[in-house]
Amino acid sequence: MMLNKFKSEKLYHQALSVMPGGVNSPVRAFNGVGGTPLFIERADGAYIYDVDGKAYIDYVGSWGPMILGHNDPDVANAVIHAVHNGLSYGAPTEIETKVANLVTQLMPSIEMLRMVNSGTEATMSAIRVARGFTGRDKIIKFEGCYHGHADYLLVKAGSGALTFGHPTSPGVPNDFVKHTLVCDYNNLASVKQQFEQYPNDIAAIIIEPVAGNMNCVPAKKEFLHGLRALCDKYGALLIIDEVMTGFRVALGGAQDYYDVVPDLTCLGKIIGGGMPVGAFGGRADIMQQLAPTGPIYQAGTLSGNPVAMAAGYTTLNKLMDVGVYQELTDKTATLANGLKIAAKTHNVPLVVNYAGAMFGLFFTTADEVTSYQDVMQCNIELFKKFYHHMLAEGVYLAPSAFEAGFMSIKHTDREINHTIDAANRFFSNLNF
Ligand code: PLP
Repeated sequence: MMLNKFKSEKLYHQALSVMPGGVNSPVRAFNGVGGTPLFIERADGAYIYDVDGKAYIDYVGSWGPMILGHNDPDVANAVIHAVHNGLSYGAPTEIETKVANLVTQLMPSIEMLRMVNSGTEATMSAIRVARGFTGRDKIIKFEGCYHGHADYLLVKAGSGALTFGHPTSPGVPNDFVKHTLVCDYNNLASVKQQFEQYPNDIAAIIIEPVAGNMNCVPAKKEFLHGLRALCDKYGALLIIDEVMTGFRVALGGAQDYYDVVPDLTCLGKIIGGGMPVGAFGGRADIMQQLAPTGPIYQAGTLSGNPVAMAAGYTTLNKLMDVGVYQELTDKTATLANGLKIAAKTHNVPLVVNYAGAMFGLFFTTADEVTSYQDVMQCNIELFKKFYHHMLAEGVYLAPSAFEAGFMSIKHTDREINHTIDAANRFFSNLNF
Protein backbone atom coordinates (compact mmCIF):
# COMPACT_ATOMS: atom_id res chain seq x y z
CA MET A 1 0.00 0.00 0.00
CA MET A 2 1.63 3.27 -1.11
CA LEU A 3 0.74 6.53 0.59
CA ASN A 4 0.18 9.60 -1.51
CA LYS A 5 2.48 12.08 0.24
CA PHE A 6 2.99 14.45 -2.67
CA LYS A 7 2.13 17.68 -0.86
CA SER A 8 3.68 16.60 2.43
CA GLU A 9 6.96 15.83 0.68
CA LYS A 10 6.93 19.13 -1.15
CA LEU A 11 6.37 21.05 2.10
CA TYR A 12 8.97 18.93 3.86
CA HIS A 13 11.63 19.82 1.30
CA GLN A 14 10.77 23.51 1.61
CA ALA A 15 10.99 23.22 5.40
CA LEU A 16 14.36 21.43 5.25
CA SER A 17 16.07 24.47 3.79
CA VAL A 18 15.03 26.79 6.63
CA MET A 19 14.68 24.56 9.71
CA PRO A 20 17.07 21.86 10.95
CA GLY A 21 15.49 18.57 9.87
CA GLY A 22 12.51 20.57 8.61
CA VAL A 23 10.94 20.51 12.08
CA ASN A 24 10.70 22.41 15.33
CA SER A 25 11.03 19.34 17.56
CA PRO A 26 13.24 16.38 16.55
CA VAL A 27 10.94 13.34 16.83
CA ARG A 28 8.51 14.89 14.33
CA ALA A 29 11.07 14.35 11.55
CA PHE A 30 10.43 10.56 11.30
CA ASN A 31 14.15 9.77 11.76
CA GLY A 32 13.09 7.11 14.26
CA VAL A 33 11.06 5.17 11.67
CA GLY A 34 12.55 6.30 8.36
CA GLY A 35 10.76 8.11 5.57
CA THR A 36 9.41 11.65 5.61
CA PRO A 37 6.91 13.25 7.98
CA LEU A 38 3.28 13.95 7.23
CA PHE A 39 2.35 17.62 7.15
CA ILE A 40 -0.92 18.15 8.94
CA GLU A 41 -3.65 20.48 7.74
CA ARG A 42 -6.27 20.07 10.45
CA ALA A 43 -7.57 17.73 13.12
CA ASP A 44 -10.97 16.81 14.50
CA GLY A 45 -12.01 14.35 17.22
CA ALA A 46 -9.86 11.20 16.98
CA TYR A 47 -8.52 12.11 13.53
CA ILE A 48 -5.79 14.21 11.99
CA TYR A 49 -5.84 15.08 8.28
CA ASP A 50 -2.71 15.54 6.23
CA VAL A 51 -2.20 18.06 3.44
CA ASP A 52 -2.75 15.30 0.87
CA GLY A 53 -6.29 14.82 2.17
CA LYS A 54 -5.85 11.52 4.04
CA ALA A 55 -7.42 10.99 7.47
CA TYR A 56 -5.53 9.16 10.21
CA ILE A 57 -6.68 7.82 13.57
CA ASP A 58 -4.43 9.83 15.86
CA TYR A 59 -2.71 8.18 18.82
CA VAL A 60 -0.19 11.02 19.21
CA GLY A 61 -2.63 13.72 20.28
CA SER A 62 0.02 16.44 19.97
CA TRP A 63 2.20 14.23 22.23
CA GLY A 64 -0.36 14.13 24.99
CA PRO A 65 -2.43 17.28 25.42
CA MET A 66 -5.42 16.36 23.24
CA ILE A 67 -7.15 13.99 25.67
CA LEU A 68 -10.56 15.43 24.76
CA GLY A 69 -9.83 14.77 21.09
CA HIS A 70 -9.05 17.50 18.60
CA ASN A 71 -11.07 20.63 18.12
CA ASP A 72 -13.23 20.25 21.21
CA PRO A 73 -15.95 22.90 20.73
CA ASP A 74 -15.93 24.09 24.36
CA VAL A 75 -12.17 24.54 24.41
CA ALA A 76 -12.24 26.26 21.02
CA ASN A 77 -14.98 28.65 22.18
CA ALA A 78 -13.17 29.44 25.43
CA VAL A 79 -10.03 30.28 23.43
CA ILE A 80 -11.94 32.46 20.97
CA HIS A 81 -13.61 34.31 23.82
CA ALA A 82 -10.26 34.89 25.54
CA VAL A 83 -8.64 36.05 22.30
CA HIS A 84 -11.30 38.73 21.89
CA ASN A 85 -10.28 40.18 25.25
CA GLY A 86 -6.63 40.53 24.27
CA LEU A 87 -3.81 38.05 23.89
CA SER A 88 -1.57 38.86 26.84
CA TYR A 89 -1.34 41.50 29.56
CA GLY A 90 1.65 40.53 31.72
CA ALA A 91 -0.51 41.32 34.75
CA PRO A 92 -2.61 39.08 37.01
CA THR A 93 -5.94 37.69 35.78
CA GLU A 94 -8.70 35.86 37.62
CA ILE A 95 -8.47 32.77 35.42
CA GLU A 96 -4.93 32.04 36.68
CA THR A 97 -6.31 31.63 40.21
CA LYS A 98 -9.21 29.58 38.88
CA VAL A 99 -6.86 27.13 37.15
CA ALA A 100 -4.61 27.05 40.24
CA ASN A 101 -7.62 26.28 42.46
CA LEU A 102 -8.72 23.50 40.17
CA VAL A 103 -5.26 21.94 40.12
CA THR A 104 -4.90 22.06 43.91
CA GLN A 105 -8.32 20.44 44.18
CA LEU A 106 -7.46 17.65 41.71
CA MET A 107 -3.95 17.04 43.08
CA PRO A 108 -4.03 17.73 46.82
CA SER A 109 -0.24 17.38 47.17
CA ILE A 110 -0.07 20.67 45.25
CA GLU A 111 -0.83 23.40 47.77
CA MET A 112 0.59 26.19 45.62
CA LEU A 113 1.75 26.31 42.02
CA ARG A 114 3.27 28.51 39.38
CA MET A 115 2.44 28.51 35.69
CA VAL A 116 5.16 28.38 33.07
CA ASN A 117 5.10 27.85 29.29
CA SER A 118 6.38 24.30 28.78
CA GLY A 119 7.18 21.07 30.54
CA THR A 120 10.88 21.85 30.23
CA GLU A 121 10.41 25.06 32.19
CA ALA A 122 8.37 23.20 34.80
CA THR A 123 11.09 20.63 35.52
CA MET A 124 13.92 23.20 35.42
CA SER A 125 12.08 25.41 37.88
CA ALA A 126 11.06 22.55 40.18
CA ILE A 127 14.67 21.44 40.43
CA ARG A 128 15.84 24.96 41.16
CA VAL A 129 13.30 25.23 43.97
CA ALA A 130 14.33 21.83 45.31
CA ARG A 131 17.99 22.84 45.31
CA GLY A 132 17.26 26.24 46.82
CA PHE A 133 15.01 24.78 49.51
CA THR A 134 17.33 21.96 50.56
CA GLY A 135 20.60 23.83 50.03
CA ARG A 136 21.88 20.73 48.17
CA ASP A 137 23.09 20.34 44.57
CA LYS A 138 22.73 16.73 43.49
CA ILE A 139 19.66 15.26 41.85
CA ILE A 140 18.72 11.71 40.93
CA LYS A 141 17.07 10.91 37.61
CA PHE A 142 16.41 7.58 35.91
CA GLU A 143 17.83 6.11 32.77
CA GLY A 144 15.34 6.45 29.92
CA CYS A 145 13.30 9.19 31.59
CA TYR A 146 12.99 12.52 29.78
CA HIS A 147 12.25 15.71 31.65
CA GLY A 148 12.67 18.29 28.91
CA HIS A 149 15.85 19.65 27.41
CA ALA A 150 17.55 21.51 30.29
CA ASP A 151 21.30 20.83 30.29
CA TYR A 152 21.60 18.86 33.51
CA LEU A 153 18.54 16.72 32.65
CA LEU A 154 19.83 15.64 29.25
CA VAL A 155 21.73 12.80 30.80
CA LYS A 156 20.71 9.41 29.52
CA ALA A 157 17.39 10.98 28.60
CA GLY A 158 14.66 9.23 26.62
CA SER A 159 12.50 10.58 23.79
CA GLY A 160 14.36 12.20 20.87
CA ALA A 161 17.67 11.74 22.70
CA LEU A 162 17.08 7.97 22.78
CA THR A 163 15.74 7.82 19.26
CA PHE A 164 18.85 9.44 17.91
CA GLY A 165 21.26 7.51 20.05
CA HIS A 166 22.83 10.56 21.69
CA PRO A 167 21.83 10.10 25.30
CA THR A 168 23.95 13.07 26.32
CA SER A 169 23.83 15.96 23.90
CA PRO A 170 26.89 17.80 22.67
CA GLY A 171 26.71 21.35 23.97
CA VAL A 172 26.13 20.23 27.55
CA PRO A 173 29.33 20.88 29.52
CA ASN A 174 30.44 18.04 31.79
CA ASP A 175 30.47 20.50 34.66
CA PHE A 176 26.74 21.06 34.22
CA VAL A 177 25.84 17.38 34.65
CA LYS A 178 28.23 16.51 37.44
CA HIS A 179 25.42 16.83 39.98
CA THR A 180 23.06 14.54 38.06
CA LEU A 181 23.08 10.96 39.33
CA VAL A 182 21.44 8.38 37.05
CA CYS A 183 19.73 5.31 38.51
CA ASP A 184 17.86 2.34 37.00
CA TYR A 185 14.11 2.66 36.61
CA ASN A 186 12.14 0.32 38.89
CA ASN A 187 15.36 -0.59 40.73
CA LEU A 188 15.28 0.72 44.29
CA ALA A 189 18.66 -0.74 45.18
CA SER A 190 20.34 1.55 42.61
CA VAL A 191 18.77 4.57 44.35
CA LYS A 192 19.66 3.38 47.86
CA GLN A 193 23.24 3.06 46.76
CA GLN A 194 23.39 6.72 45.68
CA PHE A 195 21.85 7.92 48.95
CA GLU A 196 24.36 5.84 50.90
CA GLN A 197 27.18 7.41 48.92
CA TYR A 198 25.83 10.99 49.15
CA PRO A 199 23.62 11.05 52.27
CA ASN A 200 23.67 14.83 52.67
CA ASP A 201 24.01 16.04 49.10
CA ILE A 202 20.91 14.92 47.20
CA ALA A 203 18.32 17.66 46.80
CA ALA A 204 15.71 15.66 44.95
CA ILE A 205 14.68 12.63 42.96
CA ILE A 206 12.85 13.45 39.73
CA ILE A 207 10.88 10.67 38.06
CA GLU A 208 8.34 9.98 35.35
CA PRO A 209 5.85 7.83 37.31
CA VAL A 210 4.84 6.10 34.09
CA ALA A 211 7.83 6.55 31.83
CA GLY A 212 6.48 7.72 28.48
CA ASN A 213 9.71 8.68 26.79
CA MET A 214 11.16 5.17 26.52
CA ASN A 215 7.87 3.94 25.07
CA CYS A 216 5.48 3.22 27.99
CA VAL A 217 6.97 1.73 31.15
CA PRO A 218 4.86 2.04 34.30
CA ALA A 219 6.70 2.27 37.61
CA LYS A 220 6.02 -0.45 40.11
CA LYS A 221 3.99 0.84 43.02
CA GLU A 222 6.45 -0.41 45.66
CA PHE A 223 9.27 1.30 43.75
CA LEU A 224 7.59 4.73 43.92
CA HIS A 225 6.74 4.22 47.59
CA GLY A 226 10.33 3.16 48.19
CA LEU A 227 11.54 6.42 46.63
CA ARG A 228 9.22 8.37 48.93
CA ALA A 229 10.66 6.56 51.96
CA LEU A 230 14.27 7.17 50.84
CA CYS A 231 13.58 10.87 50.33
CA ASP A 232 12.08 11.08 53.82
CA LYS A 233 15.02 9.24 55.34
CA TYR A 234 17.67 11.42 53.71
CA GLY A 235 15.86 14.80 53.68
CA ALA A 236 15.53 14.95 49.87
CA LEU A 237 12.45 16.04 47.92
CA LEU A 238 10.44 13.76 45.66
CA ILE A 239 9.56 15.47 42.37
CA ILE A 240 7.02 13.60 40.29
CA ASP A 241 7.18 14.74 36.69
CA GLU A 242 3.54 14.49 35.63
CA VAL A 243 3.98 16.52 32.44
CA MET A 244 2.73 13.48 30.54
CA THR A 245 0.82 11.51 33.20
CA GLY A 246 -0.98 14.44 34.84
CA PHE A 247 -4.75 14.26 34.12
CA ARG A 248 -3.97 11.32 31.79
CA VAL A 249 -3.48 8.15 33.80
CA ALA A 250 -6.10 9.41 36.28
CA LEU A 251 -7.80 12.71 37.03
CA GLY A 252 -5.46 13.11 40.01
CA GLY A 253 -2.47 12.03 37.91
CA ALA A 254 -0.07 9.18 38.57
CA GLN A 255 0.27 10.29 42.19
CA ASP A 256 -3.36 9.36 42.66
CA TYR A 257 -3.06 6.22 40.51
CA TYR A 258 -0.16 4.98 42.67
CA ASP A 259 -1.23 6.67 45.89
CA VAL A 260 2.13 8.35 46.45
CA VAL A 261 2.57 11.90 47.74
CA PRO A 262 5.35 13.97 46.14
CA ASP A 263 6.81 17.18 47.52
CA LEU A 264 6.71 18.81 44.09
CA THR A 265 4.88 18.01 40.86
CA CYS A 266 5.61 19.12 37.30
CA LEU A 267 2.74 19.55 34.88
CA GLY A 268 2.39 20.34 31.18
CA LYS A 269 0.55 19.09 28.10
CA ILE A 270 -3.10 18.53 29.23
CA ILE A 271 -3.05 21.47 31.65
CA GLY A 272 -2.78 23.71 28.58
CA GLY A 273 -5.46 21.91 26.56
CA GLY A 274 -3.22 22.18 23.45
CA MET A 275 -1.82 25.65 24.18
CA PRO A 276 1.79 26.07 25.41
CA VAL A 277 1.54 25.71 29.22
CA GLY A 278 3.45 24.05 32.01
CA ALA A 279 3.24 24.35 35.78
CA PHE A 280 5.06 23.22 38.87
CA GLY A 281 3.80 23.15 42.41
CA GLY A 282 3.68 21.31 45.70
CA ARG A 283 4.12 21.95 49.40
CA ALA A 284 3.36 25.55 50.31
CA ASP A 285 6.46 25.89 52.51
CA ILE A 286 8.62 24.99 49.51
CA MET A 287 6.72 27.07 46.94
CA GLN A 288 6.78 30.13 49.23
CA GLN A 289 10.55 30.16 48.74
CA LEU A 290 9.96 31.37 45.18
CA ALA A 291 10.28 35.03 44.27
CA PRO A 292 8.60 37.35 45.13
CA THR A 293 7.81 35.77 48.54
CA GLY A 294 11.19 34.04 48.77
CA PRO A 295 14.70 34.29 47.37
CA ILE A 296 14.55 31.62 44.62
CA TYR A 297 14.18 33.35 41.28
CA GLN A 298 11.80 32.21 38.55
CA ALA A 299 9.80 34.32 36.08
CA GLY A 300 8.11 34.38 32.66
CA THR A 301 6.81 37.08 30.27
CA LEU A 302 3.94 34.93 29.01
CA SER A 303 3.45 32.71 32.09
CA GLY A 304 -0.23 32.31 32.97
CA ASN A 305 -1.20 33.63 29.53
CA PRO A 306 -4.98 34.23 29.52
CA VAL A 307 -5.64 32.39 26.25
CA ALA A 308 -3.67 29.34 27.39
CA MET A 309 -5.37 29.45 30.81
CA ALA A 310 -8.79 29.48 29.12
CA ALA A 311 -7.92 26.35 27.14
CA GLY A 312 -6.54 24.59 30.22
CA TYR A 313 -9.40 25.58 32.50
CA THR A 314 -12.04 24.34 30.08
CA THR A 315 -10.14 21.11 29.44
CA LEU A 316 -9.73 20.32 33.14
CA ASN A 317 -13.38 21.10 33.85
CA LYS A 318 -14.52 18.74 31.13
CA LEU A 319 -12.22 16.01 32.45
CA MET A 320 -13.96 16.26 35.83
CA ASP A 321 -17.16 14.78 34.36
CA VAL A 322 -18.00 11.53 36.07
CA GLY A 323 -16.82 8.42 34.25
CA VAL A 324 -14.32 10.05 31.90
CA TYR A 325 -11.29 8.17 33.23
CA GLN A 326 -13.07 4.84 33.47
CA GLU A 327 -14.05 5.28 29.83
CA LEU A 328 -10.51 6.25 28.80
CA THR A 329 -9.01 3.32 30.68
CA ASP A 330 -11.54 0.90 29.18
CA LYS A 331 -10.77 2.12 25.67
CA THR A 332 -7.02 1.74 26.25
CA ALA A 333 -7.52 -1.75 27.72
CA THR A 334 -9.65 -2.78 24.72
CA LEU A 335 -6.94 -1.63 22.34
CA ALA A 336 -4.13 -3.25 24.36
CA ASN A 337 -5.94 -6.59 24.69
CA GLY A 338 -7.00 -6.61 21.04
CA LEU A 339 -3.42 -6.06 19.93
CA LYS A 340 -2.13 -8.74 22.29
CA ILE A 341 -4.66 -11.30 21.02
CA ALA A 342 -3.92 -10.44 17.38
CA ALA A 343 -0.17 -10.85 17.98
CA LYS A 344 -0.64 -14.12 19.86
CA THR A 345 -2.84 -15.54 17.10
CA HIS A 346 0.04 -15.10 14.67
CA ASN A 347 2.81 -16.04 17.15
CA VAL A 348 4.25 -12.52 17.07
CA PRO A 349 6.12 -11.74 20.31
CA LEU A 350 4.53 -8.54 21.60
CA VAL A 351 4.28 -6.90 25.02
CA VAL A 352 1.69 -4.15 25.49
CA ASN A 353 1.98 -1.88 28.51
CA TYR A 354 -0.67 0.62 29.49
CA ALA A 355 -1.78 2.86 32.34
CA GLY A 356 -4.95 4.95 32.18
CA ALA A 357 -5.00 6.59 28.75
CA MET A 358 -1.41 5.87 27.70
CA PHE A 359 0.04 2.72 26.18
CA GLY A 360 3.09 1.26 24.46
CA LEU A 361 3.88 -1.69 22.17
CA PHE A 362 7.13 -3.64 22.33
CA PHE A 363 8.20 -6.28 19.86
CA THR A 364 10.09 -8.47 22.30
CA THR A 365 10.22 -12.08 23.44
CA ALA A 366 10.52 -10.93 27.08
CA ASP A 367 7.54 -11.56 29.37
CA GLU A 368 7.45 -7.98 30.56
CA VAL A 369 9.10 -4.61 29.93
CA THR A 370 9.89 -2.74 33.15
CA SER A 371 13.20 -0.98 32.55
CA TYR A 372 15.30 0.90 30.02
CA GLN A 373 17.38 -2.27 29.50
CA ASP A 374 14.20 -4.21 28.62
CA VAL A 375 13.19 -1.49 26.15
CA MET A 376 16.59 -1.71 24.48
CA GLN A 377 16.07 -5.46 23.81
CA CYS A 378 13.10 -4.76 21.53
CA ASN A 379 13.10 -5.31 17.79
CA ILE A 380 13.24 -1.76 16.43
CA GLU A 381 13.42 -2.85 12.78
CA LEU A 382 10.15 -4.73 13.15
CA PHE A 383 8.58 -1.69 14.79
CA LYS A 384 9.60 0.46 11.82
CA LYS A 385 7.86 -1.93 9.38
CA PHE A 386 4.82 -2.06 11.63
CA TYR A 387 4.79 1.72 11.81
CA HIS A 388 4.66 2.21 8.06
CA HIS A 389 2.04 -0.50 7.63
CA MET A 390 -0.18 1.21 10.21
CA LEU A 391 0.35 4.60 8.60
CA ALA A 392 -0.73 3.22 5.23
CA GLU A 393 -3.80 1.78 6.97
CA GLY A 394 -4.65 5.26 8.32
CA VAL A 395 -3.32 4.87 11.88
CA TYR A 396 -0.96 7.58 13.14
CA LEU A 397 1.27 6.30 15.94
CA ALA A 398 4.22 8.21 17.39
CA PRO A 399 7.03 7.94 14.81
CA SER A 400 9.47 6.30 17.23
CA ALA A 401 9.76 3.05 19.15
CA PHE A 402 10.54 5.12 22.25
CA GLU A 403 7.32 7.10 22.62
CA ALA A 404 4.04 6.25 24.33
CA GLY A 405 0.69 6.21 22.56
CA PHE A 406 -2.23 8.32 23.78
CA MET A 407 -5.94 7.56 23.82
CA SER A 408 -8.55 10.32 23.65
CA ILE A 409 -12.16 10.39 24.71
CA LYS A 410 -13.12 10.68 21.04
CA HIS A 411 -11.68 7.28 20.06
CA THR A 412 -14.61 4.90 19.72
CA ASP A 413 -14.89 1.15 19.05
CA ARG A 414 -14.79 1.99 15.36
CA GLU A 415 -11.30 3.52 15.55
CA ILE A 416 -10.04 0.96 18.05
CA ASN A 417 -11.29 -1.99 15.99
CA HIS A 418 -9.80 -0.54 12.83
CA THR A 419 -6.45 -0.24 14.64
CA ILE A 420 -6.57 -3.86 15.85
CA ASP A 421 -7.64 -5.13 12.40
CA ALA A 422 -4.83 -3.19 10.71
CA ALA A 423 -2.29 -4.64 13.17
CA ASN A 424 -3.75 -8.10 12.62
CA ARG A 425 -3.18 -7.80 8.88
CA PHE A 426 0.45 -6.89 9.56
CA PHE A 427 0.97 -9.76 11.99
CA SER A 428 -0.63 -12.27 9.63
CA ASN A 429 2.02 -11.52 7.00
CA LEU A 430 4.96 -12.13 9.34
CA ASN A 431 6.59 -15.53 9.59
CA PHE A 432 7.03 -16.28 13.27
N1 PLP B 1 8.63 15.91 31.17
C1 PLP B 1 8.03 14.88 30.55
C2 PLP B 1 7.67 13.66 31.32
C3 PLP B 1 7.74 14.96 29.19
O1 PLP B 1 7.16 13.93 28.57
C4 PLP B 1 8.10 16.13 28.48
C5 PLP B 1 7.85 16.25 27.04
O2 PLP B 1 7.45 15.34 26.37
C6 PLP B 1 8.72 17.18 29.17
C7 PLP B 1 8.95 17.04 30.52
C8 PLP B 1 9.09 18.44 28.46
O3 PLP B 1 7.94 19.13 28.11
P1 PLP B 1 7.98 20.20 26.91
O4 PLP B 1 8.17 19.43 25.66
O5 PLP B 1 6.62 20.87 27.00
O6 PLP B 1 9.09 21.14 27.20
